[in-house]
Amino acid sequence: MKSVVLDDPLLSGFPTLFPGHVWLVGAGPGDVGLLTLHALSALRQADVVYYDGLIPQDILSLTSATLMYAGKKAGESCRQDRITQDLIDAARAGHRVVRLKGGDPLIFGRGGEEMRALHAAGIPCRIIPGVTAAQGAAAYSQIPLTHRDYNSAVTFLSGHQAETLYGEAWHDIGLRSPLLVLYMGLKNFDKIRLRLLEVGRCPSQPVAFISAATTPHQETVFTTLGESLSVWPTITSPAIIMIGQGVEPAIRPR
Ligand code: SAH
Repeated sequence: MKSVVLDDPLLSGFPTLFPGHVWLVGAGPGDVGLLTLHALSALRQADVVYYDGLIPQDILSLTSATLMYAGKKAGESCRQDRITQDLIDAARAGHRVVRLKGGDPLIFGRGGEEMRALHAAGIPCRIIPGVTAAQGAAAYSQIPLTHRDYNSAVTFLSGHQAETLYGEAWHDIGLRSPLLVLYMGLKNFDKIRLRLLEVGRCPSQPVAFISAATTPHQETVFTTLGESLSVWPTITSPAIIMIGQGVEPAIRPR
C-alpha cells in the first residue's frame, strides 16, 4: 500500500483519506480551476478513483491512482448497483477510494444513493461538494442565478424523466419559479417547453442554452421560450437550460 504524503503546503493539514474509506468528490463542471482544494487533496491521496463520463482528462491527470471508468458506455449506463458494489468491495479490500462525480455529487448525481449504500455496508464515507453545472454555466455566461430586480428564488430541475414532472407539483414549479434551471433537459425540451407554455409561462421569457459550460467549448445561445424550438436542435450536450426573467441581465447588461 502506498503511503500518502501531501507535500503541497496548501494541502497540509487537510483531512486524511484512510484505507477502507470512500469519499464522494465533486469535480465541478469541467474547468480544472473550479476543483476545490479538498477535491485535489482527495485525488492526491486516493488509491483508486471511480470517475464519471464528463470528467475531463486534465482533472484525471491530477491523480496517480488507478482510474476506473464508471460512466456511460455507448449509450449504456453502468448499472448503479454495480458501481456501488465496486466502491464497497474496493473499500473492503483496504483501498483509499474516491468516487469522482461531475459537478456536485448530491445534485442529480446519485450521490445520495451511493452514500446510503455505503452507510448500510458500514463503510465510512465523506462528501466533498463541487461547483454544480448550473453555477458554472451561470458564472461563465454572466447570468445571475438570483437578482434583486428579477428573481429571489432559483429552481434546479431534472428534465430526464419529463413525464414525472407532469403532476400537480410541476404546475406550481413551472409557473411560479422565477428562474428554472434544467439539467438533462435537452432530450425532452420540446415537451417541457410545451408544458411551461400550457401552465402559463409567457412565450417572451428569456431562455439560455449553455453547452459544455466552463470548458473551452462552451457555447451560450440566448432565445425566448416562444422561439426556442428553432435553435434547440442545434444545441449540443451536455447543456444547462435556463428559463426566466433572471436570464435578462445577461442579455441586456445594465
Ligand atoms: N452532478 C452534476 C449533474 C449531473 S446530471 C452537477 O452537479 O453538475 C448531468 C447533467 O448536468 C447534464 O445532462 C447537463 O444538463 C448538466 N451538465 C453537467 N456538466 C455540464 C457542463 N459542463 N455544461 C452544461 N451542462 C452540464
